[in-house]
Amino acid sequence: MSAVDRKDPAGMDNEVREKIHLEILKRTGAYHANDHILLPSGHHTSEYIEKTLVTTEPSFIEGLGAVIAKHFAQWPTDVVLSTGPGALILSHCVARAHPSRPIVAYGTKGIAGGRRRVTLPVEFQRLIRPGTKVLLIEDLVSSGTTLTLLINLVEHLGGHVVGVGCLWRRTSVEMAGRSVFSLVSRDFPTYSPESCPLCKKGVPLNQEFVRRRQTRRPSSVEESNPAD
Ligand SMILES: [Zn+2]
Repeated sequence: MSAVDRKDPAGMDNEVREKIHLEILKRTGAYHANDHILLPSGHHTSEYIEKTLVTTEPSFIEGLGAVIAKHFAQWPTDVVLSTGPGALILSHCVARAHPSRPIVAYGTKGIAGGRRRVTLPVEFQRLIRPGTKVLLIEDLVSSGTTLTLLINLVEHLGGHVVGVGCLWRRTSVEMAGRSVFSLVSRDFPTYSPESCPLCKKGVPLNQEFVRRRQTRRPSSVEESNPAD
């Protein structure tokens, strides 16, 4: 944050709000800070967020969803649209708290021919029609690719994107000319081992997140007979 931002009372408010939201995410165990973490890429960082843990506390996520809903309350909304399990949980909370009482729909993510793709199930297609007002919700935004695909999907169906809201945004890039409302706007710098200031200070390297990917497997069970 620049000196100019710090003098601006509205900017200060944002800073305080962001700190509160960071604390909430920290309480879910999703956000790690003041550490020296090895990333799967081999780079090092001092902060890390475990996306799957972000939506595990219903009362926290309901509260955060209500903040996003309040921000967009002035814009009538017919549908809240998201994709991915975490974003869907958040979008339910946003829709529940939005005065327009919008319905909730979701797309599915996949990769086709090496390209990322978002698909709207046929059952939902009649819900987004020409003129439908759609609020897009994401949990974590990194490159913005998923959001750009969702915007294209809505516009392809003739709908109108009234806004984009998310919990955490790592980039400040605008989505197709739309500003993104995020509870936390924060990118974590990553360093190559050679240029890492934490290595230079001699802080021990936390390899837990990489190591457990290699040694742990997701828990799974299967039925004894092949499915029909
Ligand atoms: Zn380092």
